[in-house]
Amino acid sequence: MVDATKPGILYLVGTPIGNLEDITFRALRILREVDLIAAEDTRHTGKLLHHFQIQKPQISYHEHNLKQRGDQLVAKLLQGENIALVTDAGTPGIADPGTAIVQSCIEAGITVVPIPGPSAAIAALTVAGLPTERFVFEGFLPSKGKPRRERLQAIATETRTIILYEAPHRLVQTLEDLGENLDNQRHLVIARELTKLHEEFWRGSIGQAISHYQLDTKPQGEFTLIIAGKTPTHEPLSEEALKSELENLLKQGMSRSQATQHLSQAAALPRRQIYQLALTIPDPEPPSESN
Ligand code: SAM
Repeated sequence: MVDATKPGILYLVGTPIGNLEDITFRALRILREVDLIAAEDTRHTGKLLHHFQIQKPQISYHEHNLKQRGDQLVAKLLQGENIALVTDAGTPGIADPGTAIVQSCIEAGITVVPIPGPSAAIAALTVAGLPTERFVFEGFLPSKGKPRRERLQAIATETRTIILYEAPHRLVQTLEDLGENLDNQRHLVIARELTKLHEEFWRGSIGQAISHYQLDTKPQGEFTLIIAGKTPTHEPLSEEALKSELENLLKQGMSRSQATQHLSQAAALPRRQIYQLALTIPDPEPPSESN
């Protein structure tokens, strides 16, 4: 029963990325208990609900009706309805609709509760065998032009493990662009059809992946790419160059300790070494007053 005296709750419910056994007990309970399910594709989610014998009204919420449908959902939540948001697969909001309505709910004072479930990004990362202490999720690359070039250039210098999503018909083009911008020798893991019958992990260099998918195997199914970050190159900076950089940072208003923190990370040098140098630099002149 809807309690109209207080706002309802928006639940972001993670659903399987293939294997239906990956649904959680809590996700099933929430889907059974809410008043309404907002789904990216109601037919797709209908199959999931049918499998688990859940009968619940659905309403569509996808990238083409985000604003108008989002407003309607917020209005329903304010009237006391509890709503579950689900997407076609995985965690809502991760390269999927979700972020906009979460923001609207927070602004409207509506509680948003995560019901964690699978996400292709994390599933692939955990078995890639690449560092997981620090990673960056890039989702889908922009499809073309300057935005794509700029993103590829930014990724080229990324030292953390990189996660990308890609559609099968764009896979080879993306691998070629990665080879050109990063390095054909860079190691990557291509996770295909995670949790499904034809689950597969291909490991090798970008160059080998291009040959594999261009010549041997036509890309089919769903793909998540886990790419090794760039190995940091420590080109030694001279003491003069380090001092000059520190002077600039101090002039910009940083304290010695902030400048040390910043430069030691950027140059991958020990903090103590940089701080000793920072202590040799006089305080910057205060800006002269103009009349
Ligand atoms: N929200 C989802 C999540 O949390 O994983 C991602 C949605 S995004 C629209 C869909 C993309 O995720 C696919 O194009 C593919 O790159 C990746 N993906 C989804 N399911 C996958 C699977 N079973 N195996 C590999 N990649 C998958």
